[in-house]
Amino acid sequence: MVNKELEMIVHLQDLDLMIDEAHDVEKLGFAISGCEELKAARQELAAKISKPLLYRYERLRGKLKRAVVPVKNDICLGCFLRQPTAVGAQGREGNEIFVCENCGRMLYWID
Ligand SMILES: [Zn+2]
Repeated sequence: MVNKELEMIVHLQDLDLMIDEAHDVEKLGFAISGCEELKAARQELAAKISKPLLYRYERLRGKLKRAVVPVKNDICLGCFLRQPTAVGAQGREGNEIFVCENCGRMLYWID
């Protein structure tokens, strides 16, 4: 992935999804080891991401389980809408962060 910040957001989301999962299991009455470590790693990573981007991510995560999704063959894997070819060309360069016009998720290209 070209865009460093976007890469960090993807990692942050991975951590958030793991933390969510751990909480789900805890609700069933099981104690999870390593949850505190996950949270500490999440905090450390979040501190490296610029505030506006982090805010954008948090807001999306409030509505959607996944705030950032891959695009493969020009298809947003969040909602399966085809992305315009022009957006794909720019998106692959990674200078800017694009969002899906349909579902509003942040996009990264994996092909
Ligand atoms: Zn979408």
